[in-house]
Amino acid sequence: MQNIRLIDSHCHLDFDVFDHDRSQVLQRAQDNNVTDIIIPGTRHHYWQRITRLTDKHQHLHACYGLHPYWADTHDKQDITKLDETIARNQPVALGECGLDFRTQQVDKKTQLFFFDAQLTVAEQHRLPVVIHSVRATEKVIQSIRKFKNLKGMIHSFSGSLEQAKRLIDMNFYISISGSVTYANAKTMKEVVKAIPLTSLLLETDAPDQADAKNHGNRNEPAYLVNTLSTIAQLREETLTDIARQTSLNAKDLFAI
Ligand SMILES: [Zn+2]
Repeated sequence: MQNIRLIDSHCHLDFDVFDHDRSQVLQRAQDNNVTDIIIPGTRHHYWQRITRLTDKHQHLHACYGLHPYWADTHDKQDITKLDETIARNQPVALGECGLDFRTQQVDKKTQLFFFDAQLTVAEQHRLPVVIHSVRATEKVIQSIRKFKNLKGMIHSFSGSLEQAKRLIDMNFYISISGSVTYANAKTMKEVVKAIPLTSLLLETDAPDQADAKNHGNRNEPAYLVNTLSTIAQLREETLTDIARQTSLNAKDLFAI
């Protein structure tokens, strides 16, 4: 495992659950060959934390965005704030933004409003977008089709192979989380096997989505190696090759 270098393309290191041991979490990430971590934004009042973290650590990279899960709590003014924050802090991407139709809690129209508004801001700033899509992949595709110059990643991809291919054609990377390590993740495994390695990213989505070995525990970037080994087995390729190419992909997308 010595010459392996990994990038965690999606990890919520700013969340409160890391407040008591964040430096140990970062140390374990380093010990497990995770060289860089992308921190997506979720709500406006967390953006400042992300700025503080990424200012302090060179290998942590900021995104700012409004997560669909909290669409009810976002304010229209947050779009203006997002625009200003991006102009001021030059993050590596806008996000995470998107659609989550798993829960009926948050109104679809409200989610769509914030999603489209954020795609507009991303295009204006020529920034890649980090997209959250749960049971909404068709709608997500419809929205991003309206924009000519977008690129980005679909974080923790859970759609079909056919949808993955369409997204790849639209300049999107497919990011795979620890969910792929579970025996029942049949479609996800099929996607991982079939898509080109040049379109793949790895992520933990920590503190959520721990892999099968860490089921029930708080997830953290150090566990990315477990997702890497599952993907290597599925694709019948070496850990080194997958680590190398997925890191190149992340460097390309986020310009890091
Ligand atoms: Zn996330």
